[in-house]
Amino acid sequence: MDLILRNARLPDGQQGVDIGIRGDRIVAVQPALDATATEVIDVAGRLVSPPFVDAHFHMDATLSLGLPRLNESGTLLEGIALWGELKPDLTVEAIAKRAMAYCDMAVAQGLLSIRSHVDVCDDRLLAVDALLDVKQRVAPYLDLQLVAFPQDGLLRSPTAKRNLVRALDAGVDVVGGIPHFERTMADGAESIRWLCELAAERGLRVDMHCDESDDPLSRHIETLAAETVRTGLQGRVTGSHLTSMHSMDNYYVSKLLPLIAEAGVHAIANPLINITLQGRHDTYPKRRGMTRVPELMDAGVNVAFGHDCVMDPWYGMGSGDMLEVASMGLHVAQMTSATGVQRAFDAVTVNAARVLGLDDYGIAPGRRADLVVLQAADPFEAIRLKATRLAVIRSGKVIASTPEKQTALRLPGRPDHVSLEFTPGSLA
Ligand SMILES: [Zn+2]
Repeated sequence: MDLILRNARLPDGQQGVDIGIRGDRIVAVQPALDATATEVIDVAGRLVSPPFVDAHFHMDATLSLGLPRLNESGTLLEGIALWGELKPDLTVEAIAKRAMAYCDMAVAQGLLSIRSHVDVCDDRLLAVDALLDVKQRVAPYLDLQLVAFPQDGLLRSPTAKRNLVRALDAGVDVVGGIPHFERTMADGAESIRWLCELAAERGLRVDMHCDESDDPLSRHIETLAAETVRTGLQGRVTGSHLTSMHSMDNYYVSKLLPLIAEAGVHAIANPLINITLQGRHDTYPKRRGMTRVPELMDAGVNVAFGHDCVMDPWYGMGSGDMLEVASMGLHVAQMTSATGVQRAFDAVTVNAARVLGLDDYGIAPGRRADLVVLQAADPFEAIRLKATRLAVIRSGKVIASTPEKQTALRLPGRPDHVSLEFTPGSLA
């Protein structure tokens, strides 16, 4: 074999597992693998996970923080206005340069698949050209899936329909939308119908920004689920954000959850962004604004967490660390039980892979050898520590590595070094 990882712990709790890799494929996952390899890495019982997957991102805006100015209010609407101010000055080169820089950060963080929305409301489609180029350049090490996103509204922006079709013709993968940003509820519903029909005709997936608002009467997710069934798109449609569900009446939600589940619509929460952008019209109590994650999961809906933004007009923080996203998600949703934490880890790995439709994903023989070795014992500790990515492996090759984190201590009578890793119960 070419590479063997010895003594790994897998996210499902299996311990002492060896992972054998030949070429770009995983060929064995078993204890005490009797084989030799060109390279052997002893991971010493630490967690080996399939790579992180970001199901919702905006790569055309990332790393543009401060251009042309900062978002003073911190609101979604000022962010959209600021993006509008930046658009005339955008160039293909500048967008591509920032996107490439972000992809480097992502790789360093073990984030090897990203679904990015790309704004198609600029008639020049510069961002589409830039990101299609980036998609090709990063393909050997990062899967970039693009969504044609009519940021200013499909019906509200006069050339959005035409531009969206042009973007799909050029090779953008997924049909996007933003029904709550249309002028009326009726226009929102009309945009969903038009977009689902377009996706069905072309055999594409759908991912709409849907109900990103604190308005409990923003119910476009209901229409999206119904249109998914009508157009036969079950399993291929995603509702992103769904923050209005946070504020909806419980009785209505009890009817809505089974509808979403039956339609096979995936849900994406963006915890870092939802907790900062929603609740802005509230005094106190202030709503958290994230969708009902555990309730959606209990209803059988596939839920992923997205990063959404990193250093752009909407959000100045972030670093491509999906463990930070998972951590915020579990805090906001109060998913602090052992099961809840495991579900939060799934939301930035397997669940997100399901949203993107990544068939080759996971630690099993025959799958592509994409793996992350973490400085943590298990998913719980990985999230708690935002664990160091000791090694990031793509197609069987180590493409990024970070030294183990350890701090030298200079305290009399205490050990020389301290790590933040800790086995529960070990000091009983
Ligand atoms: Zn978004």
